[in-house]
Amino acid sequence: MNDQDFDVVILGAGFAGITAARELARYGRRVLVLEARDRIGGRAWTTELNGTKVELGCTWIHWFQPYVWAEFQRAGLELHEDPWFPPITIWADGKPQGLDFDRFREILMQAWHAFAGAAESGPVMERPWDLASLDGARELDAKSVQDVIDSLDLEPLEKAAFSAEIATQMNALPEDVSYLSQLRWWSASGWDVGLMIDCLARYKIETGVTSLITHMAQRAGLAIRLNAPVERVDQAGDRVTVTMRDGSTVTAAKVVCALPMNCLKDVEFLPPLANAKLALSQEGHAAKGMKVLFQTEGEAEGHAIVAPPGAPLNLINPIRIDGARRTYVGFGTDGAAFDPCDLAEVNRVLASLQPDLQATACTGHDWSSDEFARGTWHMPRPTQNMRTAEAFAQPEGHVHFAGDYLAKGWVGFMDGAIESGFATAESVETALRG
Ligand SMILES: Cc1cc2nc3c(=O)[nH]c(=O)nc-3n(C[C@H](O)[C@H](O)[C@H](O)COP(=O)(O)OP(=O)(O)OC[C@H]3O[C@@H](n4cnc5c(N)ncnc54)[C@H](O)[C@@H]3O)c2cc1C
Repeated sequence: MNDQDFDVVILGAGFAGITAARELARYGRRVLVLEARDRIGGRAWTTELNGTKVELGCTWIHWFQPYVWAEFQRAGLELHEDPWFPPITIWADGKPQGLDFDRFREILMQAWHAFAGAAESGPVMERPWDLASLDGARELDAKSVQDVIDSLDLEPLEKAAFSAEIATQMNALPEDVSYLSQLRWWSASGWDVGLMIDCLARYKIETGVTSLITHMAQRAGLAIRLNAPVERVDQAGDRVTVTMRDGSTVTAAKVVCALPMNCLKDVEFLPPLANAKLALSQEGHAAKGMKVLFQTEGEAEGHAIVAPPGAPLNLINPIRIDGARRTYVGFGTDGAAFDPCDLAEVNRVLASLQPDLQATACTGHDWSSDEFARGTWHMPRPTQNMRTAEAFAQPEGHVHFAGDYLAKGWVGFMDGAIESGFATAESVETALRG
């Protein structure tokens, strides 16, 4: 081996790639990580808005997410708890109305029980990580979330609250997402609305998610080449040659491809990727929504706004209170609906939802137009959960795959990306040992 030849080359420096690289380095393997961007982290990206740390991508963690929680504790980082919901304005039947959080949670709990079942009686999934143990998994995966909502007899307020909440957590329209995906989230968070909200959006890392992944990479002393977009992966004999956009190459015995599923189609694989894998990447997962961060100054009372699909944002909620300044996050199903960095546009959207809510600063990132992400968090379309599990069950020769889309548990989360990085590192190490 020389400085262009490695045991393993890892494509992508997100949580999946960094975890796989670290574990293989710990086995004594010579590892190189190739990353297209000028930073590590991928969809983990902490930045600042007026001196306040904000997350353009992933944010919240929870102790029900064992892989990311273990990394967070191991790194000795501090937890930040977001402020809880202030009084809510909910849009139902085209009109805003006030609602307190306890009532909102009660409505959601009833709707979730109707949608996914109660722990004691309903058709819940007992083992979120084990699709094979679920009766009728293929049929459940073929249904869309909208199919199931349509089959329920929900009151207008229930329907507005539930469809807004579920659209927020899917970052996509209910007709585009597999029912099984949401059954999995419900099951992984203990079949309880309060717990699910805690798992999804309550606790975050005080110093930001970038500080966690940086710690993981630095502690392992990983060799990482930034600004190195990979263009081709060529297997011949017992070596794989990886070619970057500038024409430079490296070789390795094994490759871990830790790119988002939506980006696999942009890399040329020789021999070509199996059709089942390529088709999934070409279809893409469904989440191409909006995340906007903005601040207000001097508000007497905070705002939480809930609006069903069709509105430019489905949820707005404060995430930090610093004296008179509040930092909010907003989510919607259409990432192209407005520019989250344009204050005038953001204020136009806020005015349509809550006239007295005015932003003084804002930011965001267009993940769906970003060629190295092509979407936000992984959100399988109908049939994609089962097809992904089957299509990616085997590596392609010396090329193995990792990413949030390959988790058994928290698909589409940091936790799932780390889980997948561990699993793939094990299978690569097994293959290297012959
Ligand atoms: C707006 C948003 C909010 C989210 N909120 C949460 C949350 O609160 N909690 C949570 O747990 N998760 C959340 N997620 C999901 C979480 O960010 C992802 O599940 C996780 O970061 C995925 O890690 P990964 O390593 O699989 O992929 P990525 O982080 O996407 O890493 C893949 C890497 O591959 C690189 N790459 C792509 N193409 C190439 C190429 N051709 N050559 C070389 N490198 C390439 C990318 O630049 C990237 O660094 C959120 C995501 C977004 C976008």
